Amino acid sequence: MAQAKRLHPESLQSIVCCMGQPVAGNPTQFMMERAFSAAGLDWRYLTLEVSPENLEAAVQGMRAMGFKGANFTLPHKVCVIPLLDGLSPAAEKMGAVNCVQRVEGKLIGENTDGKGFVQSLRELVDPAGKSVVVLGAGGAARAIAVELALSGVTEFTIVNRSVPRGQELADLLTQRLGASRVDQVHWQGEYTLAATANIVINATSIGLNDGNARVPVVVSSWRPEMIAADVVFNPPDTRFLREAAQAGCKTLDGLGMLVNQAVIGFRIWTGIEPDAALMRDALEEFLSV
Ligand code: NDP
Repeated sequence: MAQAKRLHPESLQSIVCCMGQPVAGNPTQFMMERAFSAAGLDWRYLTLEVSPENLEAAVQGMRAMGFKGANFTLPHKVCVIPLLDGLSPAAEKMGAVNCVQRVEGKLIGENTDGKGFVQSLRELVDPAGKSVVVLGAGGAARAIAVELALSGVTEFTIVNRSVPRGQELADLLTQRLGASRVDQVHWQGEYTLAATANIVINATSIGLNDGNARVPVVVSSWRPEMIAADVVFNPPDTRFLREAAQAGCKTLDGLGMLVNQAVIGFRIWTGIEPDAALMRDALEEFLSV
């Protein structure tokens, strides 16, 4: 674990944190403290196990102790909203918050998951005008789809096991984000990708902690010109990406999304641009990949 030096013995350290449950093993503290140290900032990042019944008290505590901000992870991304003083437009549309900033004593919620993903995707392609398949309709899928729509994607196919959740995301994209074409697919058995798809995203939790778990997509429906992206970062080498790579597709693992959302959080809280490469190295070191 990186240890920040006590840089200014006569002033208080600035504190940010992550609240979740379970939260042990969350890699963000390791990345953040490395980046604080490299930037010469006397800041600390705490990883805090907070149960749903203690969330309100924990947010009050964060206010009382003057924390500069916080990340919220599962299961708090939605429940934290009524405890805040305001939301960014994207977080308001997503209905989920993973990053909070204290601005003049007020706690403002933002969502950096989707922004982190889009920034990572831009290293391969500009998503504007592309046809995107989103596998899944949970929190990560929602954050990604909203940011892609805000980045100029107008054609989506939402493929989800539970129909109401898929429909809810499809409605959000058409009714509030101006998407011109949204197909909603009830995912049963193997899903066949349409030849017109440009970007295919696994935004389900399939593959989390199991690099051989299979996302049920017909292998022969991959086309070499498609881009495959996975949100799963542990392990980053997923079967979904391996199958796409074998078909000749370019692939994007979940590490970039995680690093970028941390980079954005760092920037929001400190106003300083962190060393993203150093944060990626720290993440890989933490995960031993
Ligand atoms: P949610 O629980 O909100 O959503 C899970 C989604 O996966 C749902 O759409 C669910 O479908 C689907 N799903 C789960 N199991 C299956 C299955 N066996 N078959 C078909 N669909 C399935 O989780 P999140 O969206 O918050 O997280 C999803 C993944 O994203 C996790 O692995 C998480 O670690 C990762 N993540 C990565 C980030 C990064 O920075 N790289 C950031 C945030 C999340 P249904 O609705 O039918 O239940």
